[in-house]
Amino acid sequence: FWQETASRIKETLPEQEYHTWFNRIAYLKSDNHKVVLAVASQFILDTVIARYRDMIRNTMIELTGEEIDIVFEVVSRSKIEQIQQPSKEPKEAPKETTAFALQAKPQVSEEKTLKMKKDCNLNPSYEFHTFVIGDNSAFAYNASLAIAKNPGVSYNPCLIYGGVGLGKTHLLNSIGNYIINNTPELKVMYVTAEMFTNEFIESIGSQRTQQFKNKFRKVDVLLIDDIHFLQGKDSTQEELFHTFNNLYESKKQMVFTCDRPISELKNITDRLSSRFERGLNVDLQPPNYETRMAILKKKLVERGGSMSEEILNYIATNVCTNVRDLESSLTKLIAYSELLGQEISFDKAKELLGILPSLAANSNQTLSIDTIIKVVGEYFNVSSFEIKGKKKNKSLIQPRQIAMFLARDITEYSTTEIGTEFGGRDHTTVMHAHDRIESLMKGDESFANTIVKLKRDLTNGKR
Ligand code: ADP
Ligand code: MG
Repeated sequence: FWQETASRIKETLPEQEYHTWFNRIAYLKSDNHKVVLAVASQFILDTVIARYRDMIRNTMIELTGEEIDIVFEVVSRSKIEQIQQPSKEPKEAPKETTAFALQAKPQVSEEKTLKMKKDCNLNPSYEFHTFVIGDNSAFAYNASLAIAKNPGVSYNPCLIYGGVGLGKTHLLNSIGNYIINNTPELKVMYVTAEMFTNEFIESIGSQRTQQFKNKFRKVDVLLIDDIHFLQGKDSTQEELFHTFNNLYESKKQMVFTCDRPISELKNITDRLSSRFERGLNVDLQPPNYETRMAILKKKLVERGGSMSEEILNYIATNVCTNVRDLESSLTKLIAYSELLGQEISFDKAKELLGILPSLAANSNQTLSIDTIIKVVGEYFNVSSFEIKGKKKNKSLIQPRQIAMFLARDITEYSTTEIGTEFGGRDHTTVMHAHDRIESLMKGDESFANTIVKLKRDLTNGKR
């Protein structure tokens, strides 16, 4: 009955969406018009209830013609797996063999697809459905998807640029993987600019430049990652220029990534950079707080881990630089909790991650010290004027020190610059304030939470 419900829903949802969520739901029992389903975490529960409960219920009603109530239970992940695959050992040999033979067929083609991806140098784990879309990345994501659906037609060439760890490689591989999944007859090639360079140099050394040219000119889709690597490499640039023209004329799709806008590259020939700028140029920005939270939750589900909202919030608040840093913070905590075999506590998480000022810093260069003073002032109900002033009332000293702490923590201004903004104070005063707040935070959790909250307000408000 559940199988039938699920397979009907499967027909109405995109395949990836279906797998993401319905493989995480198990049927427990039903009686008296009440169906009990199990999921492995609160997060999955919330999503399933918000998005799919009515769909499941309506499908069941359609199937049975009866009124039905659905109840969910959160159980362990291993229990879900156990329900879904009661036994991996064959009990009745002949039956299982046929079942296996039937299953084996798609697996072969899946294997073949995987091999094709490997042959194109693609990383099969980077796919569109594992990419979390935020305001910072929606344009780049949509452009990439449009390209994957219609290579050579929609945006050609396309350049995706943005800082490290923001998902350039992920999107580039997603395009390639999508094309191989859906139009395997197209020849896709993914290379980093470094691989391209090395292969080119090697081909010169072994007098096989013609093979090299043929290899890159016969593809349908050419994906080159990190083209900033080509700066100053004149003969490789020249070679790529010809490859580009060749593919462009025959309307073959090209997508490039770069760590900055093309106009900021140095030592790239004009004729090549004008080629990169042709077509569509889209940027990837650092994710905002909500997107960081969504990314953490998605990664957590992918890994089947569980973690309190409090901890996720702590990571999302403090790690503002890029997705790679978010991911590695999460990995660290998951690894630790797996090692211990228990859920990690908030205190332990904080200890393991530290406050991570370096990670918080970069993306907030443009947040002004004045804004920080203003926000802190509003919170403590004192004016910016008073914070910057000379008065040493107790009610002013702490907000002032907190504002200095946050300015030092969130922005990249030097202590001298910060001191200047605080009514011309010395840089040692800023350093002292920073140390003082840091030690207060260590000893007083609720005080630390206040600071973290202020910091979050500041880093959110900006984007
Ligand atoms: P870049 O190439 O821009 O330096 P990557 O594509 O290597 O960045 O991304 C770094 C890591 O972060 C990868 O593991 C990638 O899967 C992940 N990642 C980046 N952006 C996202 C996103 N929007 N959603 C999910 N994961 C992401
Ligand atoms: Mg990359």
